[in-house]
Amino acid sequence: MRLALLVSEVEKSVTIIAVSIIIEGLTKTYPNGNHALKGINLQIPPGMFGLLGPNGAGKSTLIRILVALMEPTEGKVTMFGHDLRTQKQEIRKILGYLPQDFRFFARYKTYEFLDYAARLSGMNDSRKRKSAVDAMLEQVGLYEARDRYAARLSGGMKRRLGIAQALIHEPKIIIVDEPTTGLDPEERIRFRNLLSQVSARDVSIILSTHIVGDISSSCTSMALLNKGEISFFGSPEEMLRRAEGKVWLVRVSNKDFKELTNKYPVISTIPIDDGWEVQVVAEKLDGFRGENIVPNLEHAYVYFMDAQLNQWAV
Ligand code: ADP
Repeated sequence: MRLALLVSEVEKSVTIIAVSIIIEGLTKTYPNGNHALKGINLQIPPGMFGLLGPNGAGKSTLIRILVALMEPTEGKVTMFGHDLRTQKQEIRKILGYLPQDFRFFARYKTYEFLDYAARLSGMNDSRKRKSAVDAMLEQVGLYEARDRYAARLSGGMKRRLGIAQALIHEPKIIIVDEPTTGLDPEERIRFRNLLSQVSARDVSIILSTHIVGDISSSCTSMALLNKGEISFFGSPEEMLRRAEGKVWLVRVSNKDFKELTNKYPVISTIPIDDGWEVQVVAEKLDGFRGENIVPNLEHAYVYFMDAQLNQWAV
């Protein structure tokens, strides 16, 4: 068994940083020649891990490989010491999954659906199953809604039921694909809080999203995926730190507006009396004067995503 540990000696004590998933040289080329993943290497620590990237970056491809729905073209994945190629059964036992397009059978009520998911996962003792299902409904805030048809729940409630079915067999890792898309702000916050509670119970979470706000509020570590490659790996704080000094506020006249916005990736534009206030990312401003502003995660995201700037990224 591969030892899924990174060990570093700090003075005389030994610090052990656990790694729940090791991804080595992962490549996926679809039959039509699309290179969706181009040799990805990642060591995902326990806790809440954010996989952030724009549409088409390769997030779903990576996730489909991790949950064994698809074979990679090349590369290796190890989860808690189990090799994904040869130990799929073992991995299914420790893995929960909430797909992006999770649907509920219209004929199931909320309670029945979760009970069904529990039975599928091998909980055969009906008394134990009932108490597990009740406790899980309570945890995700759906106990009151247990007799409602699952298909008729609100968007946020459906996602919470999706998390409940992914958690019912007590996995060590859950993988959640674009879970907040289409939710209103209140539901989105509630859903993120639920994920934080889950990760506090020693369950590793991989959260795939194209929404920067999903990452900032909850993830302890993250990777940026861009065109099938990792352009950043670390903590959200580290990503912010790396973007310091690269975000500029520039005031330009109407005449210069076009030149500036063609030259640098633009974060925001605000009209002012005699022109524009524009936020851009750049290593250095060339031909324009501006002041540095403190980056937020959206700024940092633009910084790392921009192809011209990527030569400075890891
Ligand atoms: P994301 O989830 O980040 O939006 P995807 O993994 O869905 O990205 O897609 C990554 C790339 O692979 C895109 O260029 C997409 O068009 C391509 N792709 C995804 N699925 C297929 C497929 N079944 N066949 C061919 N190309 C695909």
